[in-house]
Amino acid sequence: MLTAAFPGSFDPPTLGHLNIIERAVRIFDELLVVVAENRQKKYLFSAEERVSMMRALVEPWNNVSVALCDSLIVDFIKKRNVRILLRGVRDVWDFSYEFELSLMNKALASSIETIFMTTDPEYFILRSSAIKELASFHGDVSGMVPSLVAEALRNKYTKGGLSPKF
Ligand code: ADP
Repeated sequence: MLTAAFPGSFDPPTLGHLNIIERAVRIFDELLVVVAENRQKKYLFSAEERVSMMRALVEPWNNVSVALCDSLIVDFIKKRNVRILLRGVRDVWDFSYEFELSLMNKALASSIETIFMTTDPEYFILRSSAIKELASFHGDVSGMVPSLVAEALRNKYTKGGLSPKF
């Protein structure tokens, strides 16, 4: 069984993240999406909201599961016997950051391999931070995120809260 972990903030999940997931499930037997909770970072969506959105989005695949991690990703996945870390790369700036991160993870856990998947050109411009900014100005994000995320963003920025679903 070949299992990979796909960690990220997913604040919120975008069509770019889903594209990576969709392509990864065709390569790996199982995929564990790891929603990272880093106490140093400020998120728009709480960890529970991000996990719950991601769980709803990966429902169509029975070989994808979602977990929340508030510790070191490499320790977290090692405990679950996962040895592959999957990361998406949009451009050279992403690559430079991801490359350094992969070296740091290698130093922390030499048995874990990082694998990079390049973005599908269609999703090249999708970035959670830019999408949040656009949504905060009530811009149309419907072509960038799944509809449940678009609704969650609308609720965040118009009502100051999420729909009871999340
Ligand atoms: P992080 O805070 O860990 O970078 P993100 O949620 O921003 O979390 O991203 C999670 C992973 O998905 C990262 O590897 C990132 O490079 C990748 N990613 C984000 N957006 C895209 C996209 N549009 N296409 C491909 N990969 C992406």
